[in-house]
Amino acid sequence: MERCVIVHYHEVALKRGNRPRFVAKLVDNIRTAIRDLNPRDVRALMGRIGIFWDGEIPWEMVRERLKRVFGVSYFCPAYRSSHSVEEMKEAILGVIEREGRVFDSFAVKTRRSFKDFPLTSVDVNTIVGGHIKARTGKRVDLKAPDLLVTIEIVPREAFFYFEREEGPGGLPVGISGRVCTLISGGIDSPVAAYRMMKRGCEVVFVHFHSYPYLDKTTQEKVITLVRHLTRYQFSSTLYLVPFGEIQREISVSVEPSYRVVLYRRMMIRIAERIAEKERARALVTGESIGQVASQTLENIYTINDVARMPVLRPLIGMDKDEIIAQAKEIGTFETSIIPDQDCCQLFIPRHPATKARVEDLVTKERDLDIEGWVERAVAGAEVRSFSYP
Ligand code: ATP
Ligand code: MG
Repeated sequence: MERCVIVHYHEVALKRGNRPRFVAKLVDNIRTAIRDLNPRDVRALMGRIGIFWDGEIPWEMVRERLKRVFGVSYFCPAYRSSHSVEEMKEAILGVIEREGRVFDSFAVKTRRSFKDFPLTSVDVNTIVGGHIKARTGKRVDLKAPDLLVTIEIVPREAFFYFEREEGPGGLPVGISGRVCTLISGGIDSPVAAYRMMKRGCEVVFVHFHSYPYLDKTTQEKVITLVRHLTRYQFSSTLYLVPFGEIQREISVSVEPSYRVVLYRRMMIRIAERIAEKERARALVTGESIGQVASQTLENIYTINDVARMPVLRPLIGMDKDEIIAQAKEIGTFETSIIPDQDCCQLFIPRHPATKARVEDLVTKERDLDIEGWVERAVAGAEVRSFSYP
């Protein structure tokens, strides 16, 4: 009997007109996520997606992959059947016996997405349930059955299964367009990137490093983080932007209290240039309000002032504990806490200004070669590609 996996998505959350695009993207992403697991076919059925194999499903691997495909609400290892309820009931019983399923009580639940099917859901439940009861002697328990047999009827075919696995939810990566995430190697920005992916954005990563003024630890952390996060979007681009020289030049002409904010304004400008090149529509940072001195509302205002694109801050209202919990969940925490040297502390005294006024910065920047720095930084960036699987 033909094996398959039935994938469900949240239909209610979809506006009617968006559904075909959503489904097409999700099918595409599922294909990519399991491309090395040799499915025979991945196709949209009515209101769900089917993945088909010749032979057995490499279930452990499939499960691990589908758990990271955004847009998947839940998924089930299933069997394919014809529309014949007679065939269906024999097939279901056969599988129950062959798989050696142990249960005292059971229930059958049928979902009929094919509205021209001649029998009602209740009819199917009764016929299949009656057959299982007669042949196994087990009792029906609709509230808390040991074994729940789910039957799904779509045009031309039907499926049945006994288990479901939860997916990650969200929207398929790519459906919402592209963003550039500024990733630092710390705890927050990888979580910010993850949350954007979950909302259907494809993330291009931009990291500013101060090598050779600082060592390569942070860059290595960022590479590990991007590689890890690529498992949620299947391919990633990372820009490693040389930033030390800009910092050094800022430090020789600007007093210490303004440097951090100036660094940040430069990061935004450079990231925006990269975003334009990549046809991204927004920048993303891991800022959360008031978390550190550089993230006061005042400073966010001042840094944001140079941006023309929207700067999205998915963590803005989160507490550090909440961010840490999510970092642990998605598996980035361990890498993020490896000790390194924060690039923004390079050439910085202990107490930076927490209130830098825009007018002051604009005045200071007038004497700096901002445009030249942006161009050189973008030209000097090392671009790395990642893919998974
Ligand atoms: P994170 O945990 O992401 O490092 P943080 O709490 O340490 O954040 P900051 O160091 O103030 O906060 O950085 C705020 C945001 O600025 C980061 O989340 C990131 O988006 C961006 N950022 C900071 N440093 C860099 C860098 N070297 N390269 C790229 N982006 C950076
Ligand atoms: Mg940081």
